[in-house]
Amino acid sequence: MTQKPEQPVEGGLIAEGKTKIIRATAQDPEQVLIQSKDDITAGDGAKHDLIEGKAALATRTTCNVFRLLKACGLPVAFDEQVDAKTFLAPRCQMLPYEVVVRREAHGSYLKRVPGLAQGHLFPKLLVEFFLKTSGKKWKAHELLRDDPLMEYAKGAGTISLYEPSKPVYAQKPFLVLEGNEVFARADEWKLFPEIQKIARRAFLVLEKAWQLEGRTLVDFKVEFGLTKEGTLLLADVIDNDSWRVLENGSYIDKQAYRDGGKLDDVAEKYRRVASVTDHFRLPLQQVIIWRGSDKDDVTPVAKALEQLCGGAADGPRLKITTATCSIHKEPVRGLNELHRLVQEVPDTVVIAFIGRSNGAGPTLSASTTVPVITVPASFKDFPEDVWSSLRTPSNVPVATVLDPSNAAMAAIEILALRNPQFYMFLREQVEERLVNSIPV
Ligand code: C5P
Repeated sequence: MTQKPEQPVEGGLIAEGKTKIIRATAQDPEQVLIQSKDDITAGDGAKHDLIEGKAALATRTTCNVFRLLKACGLPVAFDEQVDAKTFLAPRCQMLPYEVVVRREAHGSYLKRVPGLAQGHLFPKLLVEFFLKTSGKKWKAHELLRDDPLMEYAKGAGTISLYEPSKPVYAQKPFLVLEGNEVFARADEWKLFPEIQKIARRAFLVLEKAWQLEGRTLVDFKVEFGLTKEGTLLLADVIDNDSWRVLENGSYIDKQAYRDGGKLDDVAEKYRRVASVTDHFRLPLQQVIIWRGSDKDDVTPVAKALEQLCGGAADGPRLKITTATCSIHKEPVRGLNELHRLVQEVPDTVVIAFIGRSNGAGPTLSASTTVPVITVPASFKDFPEDVWSSLRTPSNVPVATVLDPSNAAMAAIEILALRNPQFYMFLREQVEERLVNSIPV
């Protein structure tokens, strides 16, 4: 008989903020209970209200988001939801940064770069760090304002602080701190590239998740922490206070509250967002690698798929199925096999990796509605073979790709239209090569 896991029991209070309470668990010093509150605040607490039920909506949203990020292999401080308002997470020493990722220019960015139209698109995600401060103080230093934009200068080892609401070109840092005034450990700055990478990846996953729900994620803020073992985790919460999401051009997030929206309307948006995030998930998908004979070595395709989707290839959410059947010799068996496999996993792409005169790619393509990409595997020795894949009859929309790794990438791109994790892998690589036309 399997034992029911022990419910975590509340221990002592660790911290209480404007919107949540962190408590230890009585059982495990390395786990915490994070409980949301019904409070909503804006403008550094200048505006404050209570929305009945917001705590449960916030926790539901965070848990939906963190479950998806974890399913995509991201290191997230999340174990499980324990009740409507509370989730269990590994205890972290939080880093004092708010990490903002932007796909479009909204909010404070428009104040730093005035003249830019709201919604200006950044094809390469922007990542900014803000120092988390309160009471306009950082240790012994008085600050002009809280949560300044920060810039770390690697050579000098200093951290420059800027006014986040003033044009960047019209200001010098209002304070420059030595690294040791900010960092808990001397080499904390070495975490910055990893923080950026995880923040970008998390954004890409959620960008696709929101696209699939017909809305647009334009920016978000995340925080990071270190476990006792020193593992970096995306921590805290990601809920409807943490991002801007557009629905038909209007914000459905906390921005509606900042902009003076009626509390009932704001509450309705929080309810809608929580229920949309209930749909966040990874789909079950399949790549069928079709070969004409068991002598055909499909390793180049399989290897490329593996490389593109890391540990996800042939995992629980992506089936890689090798089908072996000559469509010239056994057309009925082959097509029955195709229909059976697509019936099992409808979200499928076929890669036909076939040598000699390639009848299989076009024939499979004509017999199914899933995309078929054909690789004329023998084209180096017999270049004329490609014609049997290229000059196809009408209603035979097979795509022909010579290079097996490009064929694998084309297949994953098709799956990535509906898969936040594959979208993350592919878009991350593409963005490494992109340059935004607005320098920052
Ligand atoms: O105001 P700004 O444009 O810098 O905000 C960027 C993103 O970070 C927005 O999604 C906003 O909701 C979020 N944010 C936050 N907490 C803050 C500041 C910003 O969650 N203290």
